[in-house]
Order: sequence, then structure tokens, then C-alpha cells
Amino acid sequence: MSGSNPFASIRTLRRSYLSPAWSIALLAGFVVQLLLIVFVTGIGLDQLRATEANLKTVVDVHMRKQELTKAMVVSARERTLNLFRMVETDDPFERDELFLHYGRNAGDFIRARTELLALPLSDSERELIAQQGRLTTIAVPIQDRVIELINADDYPASEAVLMREAVPAQNRVLEVLSRLDAETQKLAAEASLKATRAHEVARFWIYTLSGFAVLLGAAVAFASIYYTARAGREREHMATHDALTGLPNRVLFMDRLEQTLVRTHRSGLMVGVLFIDIDRFKLVNDTLGHAGGDRLICEVAVRLRKTVREGDIVARLGGDEFVVIIADAGKINDVLRAVEKIIAGVSEPYRIDEREIFSTCSIGVSLYPHDGGNSEELIKNADTAMYHAKRNGRNRFQLYDKAMNAMAEERLQMETDLHYALERGEFVFHYQPQLDLESGRIQAVEALLRWEHPRRGLLKPADFLELLDETGQILDVGRKLLVDACRQASSWHAEGHSNLGVAVNVSGREFWHEALVSNVRAALETSGLPPQFLQLELTEGIFMQDMDKAVGRILSLKALGVSIAVDDFGTGYSSLAHLKRFPLDCLKIDRYFVKDLQEARINEAFIDSILALCKGLHLDSVAEGVENLQQLEQLRGLGCQAVQGDFVSRPVPAAQIAGLLGRNWQEELRREERASA
Ligand code: C2E
Ligand code: CA
Ligand code: CA
Repeated sequence: MSGSNPFASIRTLRRSYLSPAWSIALLAGFVVQLLLIVFVTGIGLDQLRATEANLKTVVDVHMRKQELTKAMVVSARERTLNLFRMVETDDPFERDELFLHYGRNAGDFIRARTELLALPLSDSERELIAQQGRLTTIAVPIQDRVIELINADDYPASEAVLMREAVPAQNRVLEVLSRLDAETQKLAAEASLKATRAHEVARFWIYTLSGFAVLLGAAVAFASIYYTARAGREREHMATHDALTGLPNRVLFMDRLEQTLVRTHRSGLMVGVLFIDIDRFKLVNDTLGHAGGDRLICEVAVRLRKTVREGDIVARLGGDEFVVIIADAGKINDVLRAVEKIIAGVSEPYRIDEREIFSTCSIGVSLYPHDGGNSEELIKNADTAMYHAKRNGRNRFQLYDKAMNAMAEERLQMETDLHYALERGEFVFHYQPQLDLESGRIQAVEALLRWEHPRRGLLKPADFLELLDETGQILDVGRKLLVDACRQASSWHAEGHSNLGVAVNVSGREFWHEALVSNVRAALETSGLPPQFLQLELTEGIFMQDMDKAVGRILSLKALGVSIAVDDFGTGYSSLAHLKRFPLDCLKIDRYFVKDLQEARINEAFIDSILALCKGLHLDSVAEGVENLQQLEQLRGLGCQAVQGDFVSRPVPAAQIAGLLGRNWQEELRREERASA
């Protein structure tokens, strides 16, 4: 389990999705935002403290103002009181003492008033203080007069002035002061209330907003982390799963397989790796279109998932290829039972677009630890085994066996060789004559592809045609050889065999390729072969893919003047009724029916009905694979027009055809008949 490790790929995948640089940036951004919120909240709270301090100052100022107003009231009262006492006492020392107090009262009053005026005052306070000033200016001379009368020992007069003038004047001052006191108190209460309220509002908003900011930040961070993680998970799912079926894809499959192998290595059990390929999927795609093909793939995926156990893994590698891991198998039979269940499950009919579709699959099986120690080897070997299952006739499974590797390598080598074969001119046609039974004349030759392989000698289509078709090279090869065949026929005409036709096989891929008609036209033009001597052979399968389109295509070929034959007739799916729709010229009866003509009476009946059909539709008929005289005579008896097969001649290089054309077939046949009789 060493070598290139598929774990690595999936791990990097996971890492790259869950911690991209920007998710770190996001986290950093979030931290910075939180710090900012804390910082701003800090500043807000600091401001709040400052407001609080301010509030305190405001309150302090008002308290001071009240104190000062009170001090003024007290001084003014005491001053009047001292005046009373001075009027009443007859002790000169006491009077002197009272006078001193009286003077100090005035000093206290003025100090308080000066201080008060230095404080921030409202207009109303200032007005009241001014009023007090005016009233005091009136009161002071009266008081001075009382003092003068006392000093003059005129007590009755001083008492009279005191009671009648000084006291009322001082009371007026006191009354203003008490209004000032009330005003100051009122303003203090108002200011304090206002400041407290403002403070509370500020505090409310700072707490609310910063709390909200923290919550919002946290929510945003949570949401973005959640969505980032989810997007990461989704992308990871997309990177590890197949979009069409939702099954694990190759990356995840390799990961799972590795895990399974590690586990099995410890348990000593067995793992089966099944490489599954749908048979003739291309045909389904061509018939039902891509959407239909996709639906079949999905349906197969569902069946595979349903057939295997929960712990087994089903993955799609792409196209029509699936892989299944049968984990923890005790013996080979456990794996094979699963394989058989899959083959049976897949071959149940499908309903797609209101049509009943039959599909099968071919499965290659490799086993751990027998057929490979690591995932790559197991897959490769299961793939090789699958290829062999296909070659052995599809709808089956094949266990891997070491000899297959050699064959797989050969196929690879073949692919490389094919790549150069066309430019090196290794493809040639051999020609096989078609004998007209009525005239005893060779009416045409069929061109059959051969590969003159530099090492392996002459190869037949069975060895390479499928590969040529799969790789698409059939298009280039077909185009070039079509020209060769027309030129060859043209040169036979020039040699005097001016009625000889040539038949060329056209594969499905070539038939549907848009360049077909122009290729045929070009081949006729460059060779100078009159078009009625060129016949194109198509198999029935080609028509059935899209009948309307096929009719159009055949019509445009026929517009060039060439004729059309149905090759291998009887082996395909076309019902006889469908044939009427196609503008055909000739049916070629497959050699399968000719082979057992003598033994199987059913074949005779079948050929009979085909020939009746030909007559009804005015079609020519050619029987293929005629290997002996009896077959030929029997076919002649049934009314067959022409025969082709080894009895007349194997396919031969062009140079040998002239010799065949020169023979007297009618005479030879008669002689042979006499000999056999
Ligand atoms: P096909 O068109 O049915 O050709 C007749 C095949 O039967 C030829 O095989 C021929 O050699 C073989 N054959 C002829 N007479 C007898 C006989 O008496 N007995 C037996 N057993 N076989 C006989 P070949 O040449 O191997 O070609 C195989 C197939 O490859 C052809 O079948 C045709 O479908 C395809 N093919 C051949 N050449 C071309 C080509 O140029 N283009 C395309 N697209 N297909 C070709
Ligand atoms: Ca043919
Ligand atoms: Ca044929």
C-alpha cells in the first residue's frame, strides 16, 4: 500500500476547503471588531464618568450658592439683632463688643455676596442679587443713623428709628434674600434632575448599543463561520461525488478503497473490486439521446446501491463505468454472489421515457490480496478483466487472471501501432467477388479491410476494427480507402470489365458523420467511377437509431447515384415492416442462415421469406458465406440472385481479381455439379 497515495489528494482537498486564507482573515477581522467594540465601550464609559463628575460639580456649585445665600441671610439677621442689643444695653463695654460684631456681620455679608457673584448665576439670581444690593443701599444709611443716635446716647430716638425704619428696611433685604435662596434651591434641583436624566439616558444608550454591537458581531461571525464551513462541505462533496448520480467519484473511491485495504490487511479477510461497464451503452445514448442515457446511468446507480450491502462501496468512475468494493468477504463465493446479484439486477428491464429498455453489464473482478496489493493495481486488473468479459460476449463477469495482463499490453501496443498504420499505408482492401447466379458472371466485389501489420502479418477486421472505431480513426481510414476502392474499380473498368460494381462497408460512426456524403462525392469525382457501380453496405442497427434521420441520409446518398445494401440482414433488430420505409437496393443475407441451410429447415424458411420480401420490394439479394456447392444450389433453388463466399473465392488482393473475372463460372459450376452427382 505504498506508492502514490490517494489519501494525500483527499486530505489536501479537505484542508484547502476548510482553512483558506480568507477564513483566517475573517477570524482576524472579527477579533479586531470585538476589540473595537470593547475600546468604544471603554471610551463611552469614561465619558459617562466625566458626565457624572460634571454633574457633581453642578450640584456642588448650587450647594455653594445656597450656602452663600444662607450666610448672607444669617449675617443680615445677626446685624439687625446686634443693632437691637446695642439699643437695649446700657453697658458701654458690651456695646463696644456688639459694635465689633456688627461690623464683622457686614464683612461676612460682603464676602459671601462677592463670592456668590463670582459663581455662575442665572439671570433671575443676578436680578435678585441686584435688587438686594439696591435695598441694602437704602437700609445701610438708616442703620448708620441708629448707630449715630446710640453713640449720642439718644436711646428712645435710636429705638424709634430702629423699629420704624431700620427693621422694615432690613426685612425687605431679607425677604429678597429668601427669594434668592428659594430660586437657587429650585435651580439646583432642576439642574441636578436634568444632569441625572442626561446621564441615565447616555448610560442606557451606551450599554444598549455596545451590547447590541457585541451580539451583532457575534451573530455575524457565527453566521459567516457557519456558511463558510457549509460552503466548504458542499464543495468538498462536489469534489468527491459524481454530480449525476450522487455516488462517490474516483477520488473518494480510491480513498475508501485504501481504507478498506488497510482494514482488511489486519483482519485477514478478502476484498473484491468490481469494475462494471454497461453493455452497448453507446447504442442507448444514440437511441434515447443523452438525457435518456443519463437516466439509465442513474437507474443503474440506484440498482447497484440497492443490490450490495450497506458497508459495500459503489462509485461512478465516469461515463458508463462503475466500481463496487465488496468489503470483508470471507471467501471468493461471497464476492461472486454479489457479482451475480448485480448482473441479475442490472439486466431487469428499465422504463425510460415511456419505453422499455433492456440493458446488461459486464463485470471484471479482482481480489485483494490475490490480484494486487494496492488500490491502483486492483482497479487496473479489474478493468482488464472487464474488458475480457466484454470480449467474451458481454452480460457476464470475468475474474482477473495474470495472463490477461499480457493481452492488455498487447491491446495497448495495438493502439500505438494503429496510430501510425494509416500514414504508413498499412491499410489495404482485399476484394471478394459476388457471383450472379443467373448469368454466371461476377457482378461486383466487396471491399474488405485488411491491415498489413509490420510484425504480425495480415490482420482481419476482427483484430482491430473495434479499436479503430473506438478511437475514431475509422473516419480517416474509411475516407482514404473509399477513394482507393473507387479508383480500383475504375481501373478494372478501364481494363474492360466495365460492368463490375464495388461494395464498401460503412460503419455506424461513418454513416452518421456529417462528411459522409461529401466524402462519397469526392471519391467518385477523383476516381471517375460512375456512381451506379458503387454500393454502400450498412447494417440494420444503424437505421434503427434514428429512422427519420437515417431515411434522409440514405436519400442524400442515393441522390449521388450510388446504391445501398443492408448488410448481415436477419441478425439485427429491424422488423421487416420497417424496411419498406427505406429506399434500399439490396439485402445481404447473413452467413449465419446460410451456414446451417442443409440441417436447419427453419433457416431455409427464413431465407425463403427474405427472398419473397426482396421480390416484393424489388430488392436484389446476395447470400453471404457460401462455402460449398450444395449451399449455392439450394440458394439458387430458393430464388437467390447472387452469392458471395469462400466457395467462389476468399477475399483476395486487387491484383488477383482480374484472374477471377476471366474465368467461365457457368461452365465451372456445371462441371462441379456433374462431378458431385
Ligand atoms: P461483412 O461485411 O459481413 O463481411 C463478410 C465477412 O465474411 C468477411 O470477413 C469475409 O472475409 C467473411 N467471409 C466471406 N466469405 C466467407 C465464407 O465463406 N465463410 C466464412 N466463414 N466467412 C466468410 P472479414 O473480412 O473478416 O470482415 C469482417 C467484417 O468487418 C465485415 O463483415 C464488415 O462488417 C467489417 N468490415 C470489413 N471491411 C470493412 C471496412 O472497410 N469498413 C468497415 N466499416 N467495416 C468493414
Ligand atoms: Ca459487408
Ligand atoms: Ca455481411
